[in-house]
Amino acid sequence: MSNLDRSPDVVTCGGRTDTPGEPVLDLLRGKEVTLGASTKVRRLLPTLGRRLVGAWCFIDHYGPDDITGQPGMQVPPHPHIGLQTVSWLLAGSVHHRDSLSSEFTIHPGQLALMTSGRAIAHSEQSPASHPGELHGAQLWVALPDAARHMAPAFEHHADLPVLTDRGLRATVLLGELAGAASPGSVHTPLVGVDLALDAGADVRLPLEPDFEYAVLAPSGVGTVVAGDPGIGSGSGGSGSGGGVAVAGAEVADVPVGVGELLYLGTGRTELRVRAEDTTRLLLLGGEPFDEQLVMWWNFVARSGAEITEAREDWMAGRRFGTVVLGEPQPAPAMPPTPLIPRGRAR
Ligand code: MN
Repeated sequence: MSNLDRSPDVVTCGGRTDTPGEPVLDLLRGKEVTLGASTKVRRLLPTLGRRLVGAWCFIDHYGPDDITGQPGMQVPPHPHIGLQTVSWLLAGSVHHRDSLSSEFTIHPGQLALMTSGRAIAHSEQSPASHPGELHGAQLWVALPDAARHMAPAFEHHADLPVLTDRGLRATVLLGELAGAASPGSVHTPLVGVDLALDAGADVRLPLEPDFEYAVLAPSGVGTVVAGDPGIGSGSGGSGSGGGVAVAGAEVADVPVGVGELLYLGTGRTELRVRAEDTTRLLLLGGEPFDEQLVMWWNFVARSGAEITEAREDWMAGRRFGTVVLGEPQPAPAMPPTPLIPRGRAR
């Protein structure tokens, strides 16, 4: 999906000083963003409270929407640099076209992974004949310097590893969980897992202590159980701020509902999750991203000059190639202030 915001914020982030060296529990509320005429999405990253979780740098959760008799998703051709897009559906279908001539219809349970490298353009549309419900997440992964100038690529993986436990069906989108590895290409150590929990599920997942993690709930309410062995003491509040910090070792359970992101910090070897009712969660994590980033619109770069150049190339029809159908989406105006990577300063 494109960042359809017509006056997108400049986001600067990266480096480890914003990453706590211990487990925390920061419950961060996302913001509702209206894209296009009427589509509302919940933007869970970046927010005022956090800009990165590992290399994960953008999370939009949309739906479930009833698009019966409506066009549904209609995202015109738009450009990307410096990132991977991860398209994940819980319901419905989306037709992807890009400037490499890739063309796929994506269904729930399948991974669409587009690596922009130096430049790509793509469009996403609900097919003319589509299911009534549309529900999914659009995620971006920042590419490290060593990979961000590579040739663009598109991968469609219909067969992802699934782990099952009592009341749990865990699909590994990217990276590896408990020995089950996604075939999707990654360029920094990271993980993304969809957790489908039955009512009454109470499960434990192994984590990498060097990774930072966050959990969001596309549907239902998942409860992250703190204070357990392996999960740290729940000494929240030392992290990013801006959210509802849950502090103190006695604090037991943290419910994570739709529209919230629970940032978990680092130093965990295990995560215990419960669900009273049927719930879907996404667990995202990765090695804290070392490099400083400048993000604007659909671009992830290292300087304002790179963003300006990418914008000019897109508007002039250079570099990004063309997508078969649709009018290219014009870039918004650049903000008046120069885009400078400024570390983690808010
Ligand atoms: Mn896009």
